[in-house]
This record gives sequence, structure tokens and C-alpha cells, in this order.
Amino acid sequence: MWSTIGQDHLLRPLEASLRAGRVAHAYLLSGPPQVGKMTLALDLAAAVNCSGRDAAADATAGPCNRCPACERIRRGVYADLHTVAVGGDSRVPTRISIAQVRETENFLSLTPVEGAWKVVIIDGAETLSAGQSESANALLKTLEEPPANVLILLLTTNPDAILPTIRSRCRTLDLRPLPGAVLAEHLISEWDVEPERAQWLARLARGCPGWARSTLQDPDLLADRDDELNRIADAGAAPLDERFQYAGSLASQFSGDRELVRQRLYLWQRWWRDLLLIKEGVPQYAHNTHRRDELAAQASALTGAEIASFLRHIQDTLTALDANANPRLALECLMLAAPVR
Ligand SMILES: [Zn+2]
Repeated sequence: MWSTIGQDHLLRPLEASLRAGRVAHAYLLSGPPQVGKMTLALDLAAAVNCSGRDAAADATAGPCNRCPACERIRRGVYADLHTVAVGGDSRVPTRISIAQVRETENFLSLTPVEGAWKVVIIDGAETLSAGQSESANALLKTLEEPPANVLILLLTTNPDAILPTIRSRCRTLDLRPLPGAVLAEHLISEWDVEPERAQWLARLARGCPGWARSTLQDPDLLADRDDELNRIADAGAAPLDERFQYAGSLASQFSGDRELVRQRLYLWQRWWRDLLLIKEGVPQYAHNTHRRDELAAQASALTGAEIASFLRHIQDTLTALDANANPRLALECLMLAAPVR
């Protein structure tokens, strides 16, 4: 049984490939953070190595989750699975290093120990092309002449940043955010969340089950999110030096963790989108419903044009950061643009 949920458009063709024994040697799994890329990668690693699949009474093409291979892959102790992630080499914390790629090549050159397939998962594959062609080229060589029974799974939040030469050698699997009702149902049935809270969490998670699950496991994440919302809600009223200080702290994090800064700006975007929805008289579509009163008060103090204009500023800032603008300058401009109440 697949652990992946809500991606039937990918699972059905994968099942067909598995049944026909025509699994590609490389897949590019793309989708927003925490949508389930790693879950699907581990599902695939288990499915190709599963020894209980044929014996399963329902003969599903997914992994059985009971045989030693499935069980060891889930526990992260399977000798023929090698995972590479950004931050795994402390000398270059923001990208996958050439040393990590070499280690991967070395792993692939050895014969399988446990199963039929050696599997490599590269999480953050877009960083392979971030101005360091050496590691991308090393990987490219492997993709051009893949050793037999090797499965390479590249995970990325940004498929456009993957070198076209790499992309063209992979089969693409685009993971989509789950519909709110599907995610809420999953939280109710698998995580025992009570229905109203499940629906609220599903809305906040924007269809990404990993995010919803991590907030259930670590309630501090929701508290942090609320702290950030306080800052966003107060931005218009805060003195300029305070806003610049905030911009400065975000900018200094940007070089180390671009994704974190992007996620912060998405939070800004959602707060201001909620304000616009309330202003437009459709509050039922707002996400941050736990702060309804505050949103309503702020929306009534602003005009629709002010809210829409600031939303555009946030989008422009995201675009500028993606285009390598100076992060401090871009974020300070955004803080200047926050409408004063
Ligand atoms: Zn199995």
C-alpha cells in the first residue's frame, strides 16, 4: 500500500510501470514543500525492492509495507538506499556539494547488498545547477549511462531551476497539493484530529500533508507561525526602524535558507489575501480563520486598493528575490510599502 496520499494521477501510471517491469531509471519529483515528495520517493524505493508485493492478496503494485525491504526502507536503514540532501555537507550548507555527488557515484558503483535495486534520493536537486557545474556534470554522466537496476529520484520545489540536460533524462512526476477535503479526511482518519480542527489545518496547510503532520507532531510550529502573523499584522503600525530591523533579519537569513524567507513571504501573502477576501465580502475563503476578528478590524481600516497594491508588492518582492535582487534592499522596499493604519 502506498503511503503517498492524494496523488492518484501519478500512482496509477507508476503501478502500471511496476507491473510491466518498466520502471524508468530516473524520476524528477516536483511540487511545493511538504506536499509529499519524500514520501513518494520512499514509496518507490520500497516498491521496486519489495518482496511481498506479488504475494499480497490484492496484488497491488504498491509496496507491501511488511517485508524486510519495506520495513528497513521505512526505518531508513536499508543498505541499498542512499539519500542526499542540502545541508548534508557543512562546508556548503546551501547546496548539494561535489563531495556528496562523488559519494553517491561511489555508492552506485557497488553491487546491491540487500535488494535488486539501488536507489538514490537527491533532495534539493535544483541546487545542483546553482553555479556549480562540476557536481551537475558528474550526475549528468550517471544519468546518461545509468548502471543497471539503479533508480535515481531527484526531488525539487523548483523544476525550472533544474538543468534542462538533467531534466530531459528524467521522467517527471508533478505532485499536486491535495484538495482541502481530502487532506482534512486524512487528518481525521489517520491522525485522530477532530473534524473542525482538521478542516482548519487543511486550509492552513494549503494541501501539503507534510506541513499538517509536522504541526501535529510539533505544536511549537503553529506558535511560531502565530508569532510571525503578529509581526505581519503589526507591520503597518510599527515604526520604520522596527520594520527595517525585521527586513534586515530576514535578509541575513536569505543567504543561508532561501526557502525559509520565501515561506515567510508566502505567510505575508496569505494574511493580506485574507484581508482582501474580507474586504470583498467573502470571508469564508480566508485561511487564518483563528484570527478572524483581528483580520476584520484591519480590513476595515484599509481600502481595497491599498490591500491589493500591497499584495502586488509582496509578489514583486518574491519575483525580485528569485531573480537574485539584493535581499535587504528588496525586503526594505516591501516594509516601506506596508500601508500605515
Ligand atoms: Zn514489501
